[in-house]
Amino acid sequence: MKAIRRITVRPVLPEPLRPLSRLARNLRWSWHPPTRELFAALDPDRWAAAGGDPVRLLGSVPPARLARLAADEQFLRRLADAAADLGDYLEGDRWYQQQTGDLPAAIAYFSPEFGITAALPQYSGGLGILAGDHLKAASDLGAPLIGVGLLYRHGYFRQSLSHDGWQQEHYPVLDPHELPLSPLREDDGTPTQVRLALPGGRELRARVWRAQVGRVPLLLLDSDVEENDARERDVTDRLYGGGSEHRLLQEMLLGMGGVRALRAYCRITGHPDPEVFHTNEGHAGFLGVERIRELAVQGLDFDAALEAVRAGTVFTTHTPVPAGIDRFDADLVARHFGPDAELPDVDVERVLRLGRETYPGGDQARFNMAVMGLRLGQRANGVSLLHGRVSREMFAGLWPGFDADEVPITAVTNGVHAPTWMAPEVQRLAARAAGERCTEAMLGAGDTDRWDTVAGIPDQDLWQLRGELRGQLVAEVRSRLHASWRQRGAAPAELGWIDAVLDPGVLTIGFARRVPSYKRLTLMLRDRERLTALLLHPERPVQIVVAGKAHPADDGGKRLVQELVRFTDDPRVRHRIVFLPDYGMRMAQRLYPGCDVWLNNPLRPLEACGTSGMKAALNGCLNLSVLDGWWDEWYEADFGWAIPTADGRDAAGHPAGEAGQGRAVLDEERRDDLEAAALYDLLEQRIAPRFYERGPDGLPDRWIEMVRRTLGGLGPKVLAGRMVREYVTRLYAPAAHAHRALDPGAARSLAAWKSRVRAAWPRVAVDHVEASVAASTAELGATHALRVRVRLGDLSPDDVEVQAVTGRVDTEDRITDAASFPLKPASGPDLEDRWTYEGPLTLDRTGPFGYTVRILPSHPLLASGAELGLLAVPGDATGSPAAGEGTGVVLR
Ligand SMILES: *Cc1c(COP(=O)(O)O)cnc(C)c1O
Repeated sequence: MKAIRRITVRPVLPEPLRPLSRLARNLRWSWHPPTRELFAALDPDRWAAAGGDPVRLLGSVPPARLARLAADEQFLRRLADAAADLGDYLEGDRWYQQQTGDLPAAIAYFSPEFGITAALPQYSGGLGILAGDHLKAASDLGAPLIGVGLLYRHGYFRQSLSHDGWQQEHYPVLDPHELPLSPLREDDGTPTQVRLALPGGRELRARVWRAQVGRVPLLLLDSDVEENDARERDVTDRLYGGGSEHRLLQEMLLGMGGVRALRAYCRITGHPDPEVFHTNEGHAGFLGVERIRELAVQGLDFDAALEAVRAGTVFTTHTPVPAGIDRFDADLVARHFGPDAELPDVDVERVLRLGRETYPGGDQARFNMAVMGLRLGQRANGVSLLHGRVSREMFAGLWPGFDADEVPITAVTNGVHAPTWMAPEVQRLAARAAGERCTEAMLGAGDTDRWDTVAGIPDQDLWQLRGELRGQLVAEVRSRLHASWRQRGAAPAELGWIDAVLDPGVLTIGFARRVPSYKRLTLMLRDRERLTALLLHPERPVQIVVAGKAHPADDGGKRLVQELVRFTDDPRVRHRIVFLPDYGMRMAQRLYPGCDVWLNNPLRPLEACGTSGMKAALNGCLNLSVLDGWWDEWYEADFGWAIPTADGRDAAGHPAGEAGQGRAVLDEERRDDLEAAALYDLLEQRIAPRFYERGPDGLPDRWIEMVRRTLGGLGPKVLAGRMVREYVTRLYAPAAHAHRALDPGAARSLAAWKSRVRAAWPRVAVDHVEASVAASTAELGATHALRVRVRLGDLSPDDVEVQAVTGRVDTEDRITDAASFPLKPASGPDLEDRWTYEGPLTLDRTGPFGYTVRILPSHPLLASGAELGLLAVPGDATGSPAAGEGTGVVLR
């Protein structure tokens, strides 16, 4: 019989066990092994059955067992210790509290997904896990973040396989009452709701759930409430499902509803209001639109409100391909704003202009969420150095006239939360080396000195640890594979072979990630004979564990999964290569530590950062990867191997040569062939020999040394603590200062100034450049006087900066690696309304050297000279460079 209604009956804990409830509801248990061990001790079998989820565990332990524990002195002592430890964690001063300077009182962090723990499955992949790690590291550092996201009734899908290897998707219902969540309530006890006005008089309501991530609250909006019509109830049904209207409603709920939920949370709890809003990828971009609305209510016009909002907003982009960016039909967006919907008092055209693709090649009928993110955030970043460069090129059209290098998008390389991703066994070994009390500083904040202590761990211990972890993985793989085959319809009697799958002594390679085509799940199958030979090598075999989910709408991805599964089903190799369905955090936490080598072979530069290799490295697993994302930045021969790429880009990530010319390889097929061959070569000639080689002590000394270097050298770099510290000092703190400087008066005057500068700019021009330098006198180190006459139209020298720009020049006289120096106003305006600027020009490098001058808008509240996308250079007025002295000069 099917129940008509489902309710969750909460356990009543005996008084002495009450602290368990708080320990279960604060997700710190997910990265704190001692707390997990306490829960396991409660009832080891039920703990396993509950999948290591304390809330489910507490709901399943029989009252008699609880009563016994309530009288167990030893258990109660452990419980008191754990509760006191959590109390210390939540209250003490941490890194953030020790910083000088006015840091923001609160920072809101918006993301469409959060991967905190498998017990709260609200993520699809790297973006969500990164968001989870960001909150956890912020908590460890004491940074006052508030996370904001959506609660999806089905989360992302669970994956299984059909008999012939086709991906099957399941969408189990998640009951919020069974999750580690509590509803946000008004003072009178009623659950808080936020509302959005929809076209046609409809309304979208959502309740607000709160998860506690250590010190950081996470608010999740849920549209599955009785007051909503069926359509609106389904808005938060699943992650990345549905058509574009569905997605737009999700994103409006996340951004606009999210701000409303945040305001309610601060009002109810007395939490300070955020001074900085961080938009993790474009999906949450409507948060800026909502804040413009709030300011409009307070009397600011759109332009002034935009300035105030921009100042306190940080936008992080994660998408290195234009095709991957979130875009909507502008008409669809228009229907959801204006008199009949949200923001009735704002001109819809103003909203549309935020997301319009106003650059060459842009589509005016589209509303682009990344473009809106960049327009609503005064500060923006990519997620690795290489991705920063790629993003600057990709979005350069929004700052016309500026070289890609000057596009105001910086980079903060992602990191991973060590306490979550380091196996407890590795944490213990590191703690032993560093001294027990040092691990917090070491893992949380990335104290580099402590990581040096890893150097002292004896070979024997490291190798034993690696073996132990590999052994655990082998056991895990067999049990998962067994379950998968049962699901695929095999009878237990057919599955005896699984007991011999993988070998705890064989070099183990891991490959697990989502399956978009750029990640090339099946590159390893490019030459099946070669792969088979590697797997079955008589002395130096390798074994491979593969996992990954294809997006439910991506049949191409599902075909790749099937191709791989079919290969792994072959009885010749099935003991050496396996595909495990349902990749997620729980599997990942076993997989990374158990592998010896972590493989990553994306099409460079499409992996914005990649984080699984970082998690592997924290467990002493070596990386074997294309030089993309983080690996491009931190690769060293001691940490693993670089798969050479045939991507036609130079080492800096710029396209090599002009428009396809000079590109190393254009043909994707050939590129795959070359890169796969390089992968096989590395495995066969470098990696397997090193793993199996034994030194005089019977250990693979050189391998162990690489493990040690990886832990000690990469460990402190790849930490989410390092990442969050960078966000705080480089982005949040400046954004908070900018936000504070822009009170309503200042916001109005900045908006007015920008509009005046924009209007006046067509008449700003470089009129004349003179330098006391000629080709014959060009000597390294010589300083010459530069004198420039400029026209400023209705602007004054206070409104602009006139700069000399110098650098090396390429064959087409373009200045590369440019440096700019401000020139000083010397006199003006003359009778022809020109101003004279002067300054020294130092020839600071030999060889082809060029200089030019330019004029930029200048205002103390701009974060970058490129911010307005306005620039005047010699020759602008006529549209072609003026002859002779009026232009930039090249010395050869
Ligand atoms: C880390 C992680 C990812 C992201 O890995 P990438 O290397 O960035 O592709 C995806 N899924 C899970 C479960 C993870 O733990």
